[in-house]
Amino acid sequence: MKTTNRCTKIIFTVGPATDNEKILHSLIKNGVDICRLNMAHGNSEWASITIQKIKKVCNNANRQIAIMMDIKGPEIRTGEIEGVWELKKDELFNLYTQRYEHEQDSKPFQTRGVMVNYPKLINDVQVGQVILINNGLIQLKILEKNSNYLHCKVIVPGLLKSKCHINLPGIKIDLPSLTEKDKEVLLIAIQENIEFIALSFVREAQDIVELRSFLVEHNCKPKIIAKIEDQSGLINLTEIIKQSDAIMIARGDLGIECPYEKIPILQRDIINSCLAYGKPVIVATHMLESMVSAPIPTRAEVSDISNAVLQTVDCIMLSAETSVGLYPLECIDVMKKISHEIESSLPLSHNEKIELYLPKNKMLRSAVVLAQELGNAGIVVFTRTGKSAQLISSLRAIQCPIFAFTDNISIYKQMRILWGINPFLLAFLEDHNATIDHALEKLLKDKSMKQGSYAIILTNTIIDQKSIDTIQLRHLI
Ligand code: PEP
Repeated sequence: MKTTNRCTKIIFTVGPATDNEKILHSLIKNGVDICRLNMAHGNSEWASITIQKIKKVCNNANRQIAIMMDIKGPEIRTGEIEGVWELKKDELFNLYTQRYEHEQDSKPFQTRGVMVNYPKLINDVQVGQVILINNGLIQLKILEKNSNYLHCKVIVPGLLKSKCHINLPGIKIDLPSLTEKDKEVLLIAIQENIEFIALSFVREAQDIVELRSFLVEHNCKPKIIAKIEDQSGLINLTEIIKQSDAIMIARGDLGIECPYEKIPILQRDIINSCLAYGKPVIVATHMLESMVSAPIPTRAEVSDISNAVLQTVDCIMLSAETSVGLYPLECIDVMKKISHEIESSLPLSHNEKIELYLPKNKMLRSAVVLAQELGNAGIVVFTRTGKSAQLISSLRAIQCPIFAFTDNISIYKQMRILWGINPFLLAFLEDHNATIDHALEKLLKDKSMKQGSYAIILTNTIIDQKSIDTIQLRHLI
């Protein structure tokens, strides 16, 4: 059996450092699983050109990866300013919710200030609260609320640029989960039929329901990934997990919206909840941040990635490292090396947190138990919808390769998110046995499985015109 199959999948974010065909080709050949387009930094035109480029390179490289569009969702930002302003400690500073040229009160004119794109800001905050700008690098304390501006004091000084992200930790903001810009870029995702949409700042399950109905209205059914990045998302986590197809632990914003020392515990708890519900989970942000400008990782970054692999997350994700970093290819090598090393150290076990109710799912678990008991065995699953592959993946069968065959290219690409799944595209024939034979031939030919090993096959068999779920045990001799 090939021992080089990697269980932990890799997502990279495409950007100026990687959106050319040569680098994309190397990344795709080198084993990335999903390409993420971060729409906080791109427009529809860039998205359309980039998606087409990725598809073209996949065809040339003869390896199909999945594409994820990460849409901005509700986000508060500062307005435009000229150049960069240095905000000094204890300086008074105003945040305006209406254009301040028309303000009669003289105070705004004696104090520097900037517009904010959220008109209800003043209603949602209290005097004494702290507003975080640019990932918390600037902090303002609210001294006074006025009809159309907040009068604040700079408590953490820093450099302010146009369109800086604002966080209001613990405050439930009243913005729609899908903005007009989100809807505009979603039309590109729909047109290009991409595999995943990630929604930022998911606060409740209804946010996912609304996104899904927008997509269904446009006859499109990508998988939806809920980004958990604030306290509302944490409070409503269980319902959000049930409504979404996967979860992303967006540690960048989460570490601003919550005390950073809580992040490891939150990460562990979110992963455990996803394992309990059998939903894929992604750990994102700062995994190799130092490699934006250095060719090797820090030891702390190696430990962070190892921890995620030990927690058996489905995917680890790169952001700035591959979008603007100097060493995108090296980052993939580092992630692969760490994943292989840590995965091979994992003790034989499977996910015992998941609750299974359907008899078919219990049967799939028994296939995992059988494969692990035999040792020299791989699971071969045939799936038209991807559901059986997802269930098998969520069982986290350590040291047991899983080969998932589908006849549908979208499902094939969507399976790239799943822990441990090696996806294969294969035409399904009327004769189930012939399909199984073709699959096994393919696995032996590409050395995914070896002569002498056991294949545990999960498929349907037609008996008396009824479809019967079956497990077959075949000795490959
Ligand atoms: C994050 O905040 O960790 C994240 C992944 O989201 P974004 O990159 O959109 O800020």
